[in-house]
Amino acid sequence: MLRQELEISTFEDLLYHYPYRYFDRTQLTKIGDINGQTDYAQIAGTLINITEEGEGRKKRLVATLYDDTGRIELLWFQGAQWMKKTLKENERYIVFGKVSLFSGYYNIAHPEIEPWNADTAIAGMQPVYSTTEKLKIKGITNRSFAKLTQVLFEKVQPGDIPEVLPENILRQYNLLNRYHSLRWLHFPDTGEHEQMARYRMKWEELFISQLMIARLRLQHIAQQGWKFEKVGDHFNDFFRLHLPFELTNAQKRVLREIRLDTGTGKQMNRLLQGDVGSGKTIVAIMSMLLALDNGFQACIMAPTEILAQQHYFSISELLADMGIPVKLLTGNIKGKARKEILAGLAYGTTPIVVGTHALIEESVQFKNLGLAVIDEQHRFGVGQRARLWKKNEMPPHVLVMTATPIPRTLAMTLYGDLEISIIDELPPGRKEIKTVHRRDAARAGVMEFIRNEVDKGRQAYIVYPLIEESEKMDYESLMAGYEQVKIWFNENRYRIAMVHGRQKSDERERNMQRFVKGEADVLVATTVIEVGVNVPNASVMLIESAERFGLSQMHQLRGRVGRGADQSYCVLLTGNKLSDESYKRIQIMVSTTDGFKIAEQDLAMRGPGDMYGTKQSGVLKFKLADIVLDGAILEETRKAAQQLLSQDPTLSLPQNQGIKSMLVQQGRQSHWGKIS
Ligand code: ADP
Ligand code: MG
Repeated sequence: MLRQELEISTFEDLLYHYPYRYFDRTQLTKIGDINGQTDYAQIAGTLINITEEGEGRKKRLVATLYDDTGRIELLWFQGAQWMKKTLKENERYIVFGKVSLFSGYYNIAHPEIEPWNADTAIAGMQPVYSTTEKLKIKGITNRSFAKLTQVLFEKVQPGDIPEVLPENILRQYNLLNRYHSLRWLHFPDTGEHEQMARYRMKWEELFISQLMIARLRLQHIAQQGWKFEKVGDHFNDFFRLHLPFELTNAQKRVLREIRLDTGTGKQMNRLLQGDVGSGKTIVAIMSMLLALDNGFQACIMAPTEILAQQHYFSISELLADMGIPVKLLTGNIKGKARKEILAGLAYGTTPIVVGTHALIEESVQFKNLGLAVIDEQHRFGVGQRARLWKKNEMPPHVLVMTATPIPRTLAMTLYGDLEISIIDELPPGRKEIKTVHRRDAARAGVMEFIRNEVDKGRQAYIVYPLIEESEKMDYESLMAGYEQVKIWFNENRYRIAMVHGRQKSDERERNMQRFVKGEADVLVATTVIEVGVNVPNASVMLIESAERFGLSQMHQLRGRVGRGADQSYCVLLTGNKLSDESYKRIQIMVSTTDGFKIAEQDLAMRGPGDMYGTKQSGVLKFKLADIVLDGAILEETRKAAQQLLSQDPTLSLPQNQGIKSMLVQQGRQSHWGKIS
């Protein structure tokens, strides 16, 4: 039962099932002192008037508790029979529970109640554990947890919970030892001890994760890689003759970083961060040309079919004049066509391939893959990043590109093993996207505005939310929205396309392509268009039910416009009534287009768990630590981890054996093992 509900199956698990808050039971409250501010109270008093009230399912047990200052009612809706048998009138009890006000009188429903004796009176800080409804029904309440843990701690000796952190680290960072930390986390005698204990266990959690990352990084750094010795004709010709625009300084800088990295004889593992529209693709293309100049093949992997296609078209077009063949490989390409592509890759006659996950299938073999570019990393599992590396006797250089600006603390945790390049400059001539918030009541005006834009020859996106939990309803409102759009936009005058995840992929593809090629004026869509799609002529992004989108998601969507020279607009359409939090999100979007600011706000508002597809990865699964709030500890543990490894890279010193076995254990539990 415990195991199914809370994944607790050993005493050790119980030890790590931390309380999430405490009741202060060091104080007794006088009934006369209870007021509107009272939350939980512990009262000593005498019980009288134990009576059953109500009939059938409404039956309840009521009793009165009094002390020398007043009286309060106690109530039981469940287990009334049992309570009636155990409680005795005119006896002294100690009672603890949440005080509520009901028709002018204070009462406590389902209090914890025990016969009075001097020992139980002052029970210290009482831990509160999370349980589930199912467990509660079986009688496993918070109180049972506290009892279990208490019994456990009566049995365990300090020696049973050995220290894992080296002595010098405990001293240097002023950390409490492990035994006391765990003990005080469950049963703190003072608030101060609880704080010390909590700090220490957070420190340990973050330290272990930073050690794992630092070790991965050491492995990367030690990894031999192909040496790209020269910048050759492909790169230079492209730069001089075929590049359709001047590179921004940021793009040039990143290319230099990549050139340096790939020239060392060590494997490159680099993350390229750049806001939507900052021009990462061209950096990827020129890096691939560098690989070709040195006799290697290169590939670029995108998270969706649409994106892979788009990359394929734009890359083939850019390289067409140079006579460099580019191939596309996705799951949809089958039979003879697929065989031919696989052969081209294996024989090395195909130098550049663009694809989806299909690129990392077992059957795909390269002659000599020198560079793998992974676009929009956050859609790939952390583990998948590694699989490409096993294609040859020597792993290719890896360039991971992401449009999601990642706040520093998160980057340190998610990508701490990678080198980081940042494109912090948009191509020149871009006009800032104008973002406005409109409520449903103003819908007609919004549609009128979009029609005007379309009449000027522009295109518009209209995006609907689609959330797993309410998928069916969301599809219904998407369809209803589509019908509406057909009315707002006279079907005979305007061309409307729709894409969503339930369409067959070729149908979706066809509709998307219509919009990309300018054969549709308005694209009604779900977030399938979120990542990377590039239609420079599109100048309006209308986000329907914007209050239901996360900040990062809205930012990604907004990034679909503002890609050409025209003034672009993003309209956030919401219901007429908004919660404070939704309103705040919308206001952030209206006030800034800076992806980093938005990402930071998003992280602060939502927490890391929901972001960047990391939920499953286990990378951010901390019991106590919070990488937003505990940024300072994170920085400290990162330094400590680096220092420890610089002294003992293989963790062989005797004092590091504790931490080493923790690493091994954690590596097995989480998905960390898969990363390297
Ligand atoms: P993202 O970083 O979001 O992947 P893209 O690589 O798709 O951005 O580039 C967005 C648009 O900007 C493309 O149309 C691209 O051709 C254009 N672009 C990229 N770099 C420059 C530049 N230096 N000058 C002008 N336009 C550029
Ligand atoms: Mg892109």
